[in-house]
Amino acid sequence: MIETSLKKSHGQGRQCVITRRAGFSASHLYRLPELSEDENFSLFGLCAKTPGHGHNYELIVSLSGALNSDGMVLNLSDVKSAIRTEVTDQLDFAFLNEAWPEFDLSQPTGCLPTTEALVQVIWRRLAPYLPIVDLCLYEHPRLWANYSGDAMETSISIRTHFSAAHRLARAELTQHENETTYGKCARPNGHGHNYLLDVTVKGSVDPRTGMICDLATLQGLVEDLVVERFDHTFLNKDIAHFETCVPTAENIALHIADILTEPIMNIGVQLQKIRLQESPNNAAEVYVESPRKDFMLESLNHSASFSMKN
Ligand SMILES: [Zn+2]
Ligand SMILES: [Zn+2]
Repeated sequence: MIETSLKKSHGQGRQCVITRRAGFSASHLYRLPELSEDENFSLFGLCAKTPGHGHNYELIVSLSGALNSDGMVLNLSDVKSAIRTEVTDQLDFAFLNEAWPEFDLSQPTGCLPTTEALVQVIWRRLAPYLPIVDLCLYEHPRLWANYSGDAMETSISIRTHFSAAHRLARAELTQHENETTYGKCARPNGHGHNYLLDVTVKGSVDPRTGMICDLATLQGLVEDLVVERFDHTFLNKDIAHFETCVPTAENIALHIADILTEPIMNIGVQLQKIRLQESPNNAAEVYVESPRKDFMLESLNHSASFSMKN
């Protein structure tokens, strides 16, 4: 009965999230008029160099709602039209600092058009027209920002990589038992991966610099504390933690989260997620759930999930 009525109504009333992708190319310049030349360069690096530089941005808009009688959350042509009218027509081939008044730095309320500031402003401009639940804005494939409408929780993600060998085997098991559990990954001499590492941090966007943290410092932490230590190693032998802990993708991701949680907190943001992709077919994600400093050391509360993609 229920199935028949759903078919007749084409799913009307059932909830669904849909996504729509859009792209635009734009330039920007990180330079605050109240700062000296040296201060601008020390804060923003090469991004302060005139006349600016550009990116091919990619915007992923996630929309949620109940299906209408046509079996859609929204008519896609209305979605495309709203994104085009409110965002891409205005930003494509534009100089972001001058495209929207939110980025007018001659005004005290003006904010630098960073990716994390831009994703918030796009949200405010699209929200009156579309039932957005998440926006993801890629500045390039190794840097993106997410925003879900909570001013305190904008996130940025950086992607880096390292190459390492490992062997999945537990010392207390026989070789046969290890191969039963871990398959080819238990072969005696190990094997290697080019790991892709995504580090996501969350915080609130500074109303003037448009940043949730100093990006170069964040990149430096990940590089120094993880990539430099793990790259071109045999994890089981070269990283003390893995002498007694089997270096599955899950455990490597958890260990990276443990290493990075406190240093990232010390630069004023919270580590939100570690995603470690071992191969095109498998990845592990770790969500850091208790980032408050006062109880952090005793009860780091990490959970891991493992995703297999075909
Ligand atoms: Zn840039
Ligand atoms: Zn492996």
